[in-house]
Amino acid sequence: MAPPKSKKSIAVKKPQPAAAGGRATGTRSRKAASRSLYSAAEVHEIFRRFSVQRPEPKGELDYVNAFTLLVAVVLSAQATDAGVNKATKALFAAADTPARMLALGEAKVGDYIRTIGLWRNKAKNVIALSKALIEDYAGEVPRDRDELVKLPGVGRKTANVVLNVAFGQHTMAVDTHIFRIGNRIGLAPGKTPEQVEQGLLKVIPAEYMRHAHHWLILHGRYVCRARKPDCPACVIADICKSKEKTTDIPAPLVPIAPLDETFAAEA
Ligand code: SF4
Repeated sequence: MAPPKSKKSIAVKKPQPAAAGGRATGTRSRKAASRSLYSAAEVHEIFRRFSVQRPEPKGELDYVNAFTLLVAVVLSAQATDAGVNKATKALFAAADTPARMLALGEAKVGDYIRTIGLWRNKAKNVIALSKALIEDYAGEVPRDRDELVKLPGVGRKTANVVLNVAFGQHTMAVDTHIFRIGNRIGLAPGKTPEQVEQGLLKVIPAEYMRHAHHWLILHGRYVCRARKPDCPACVIADICKSKEKTTDIPAPLVPIAPLDETFAAEA
């Protein structure tokens, strides 16, 4: 869905010479390949514009607490957020704590999530992680990535989402959209999600880290799409250094209603 049009765009300062934000350390050859193409001033301007567009960006998964967020993210692997939300509405009404989930049992959890891909394995993981939370963490979701990734079905990306969204930590969960943007526009090039994650953590100003994950996902999902980036609808088209971009003229910078995001299709 294209962002709404506005009356005027916000002027951008000319890029300044490369600043400290993207400074490489250590071995030159490998590190140089993953260096951001953008100066600190340019990165700041990119995120300033995203923050004007979406002052309070939200993820599209429904949840009621850290535990249900964790479950929702586990269920969302290879599934759409809308599909997960349909299934979890009733599931979370029945069980919103590890103890209640465990009491529900694998078969019943499976019944609730049958419409989601890989549901059998996911039901198993939801029960196993609920059990582990009760036995090892007093029923609380740990606020530490090393602990989170020990839970069944929880990888680095899931842990980063939970730490960022539930606990406000400055983590960067690199999904397919963020990985593409990091490489396509050269913001944080990398061969693996973890390289892109490290590159982004290095260049994004601290003041924007709280929401950077959502801004990049939404930008990738609705504007800088996989097959054909919608450059005329892009608010950073003048700053972007992608060879794929089709215009240098940025789209008008106006806030986008969350409703637009809710009903747009997955890219
Ligand atoms: S100008 Fe095009 S390629 Fe660059 S970020 Fe915007 S949509 Fe993506």
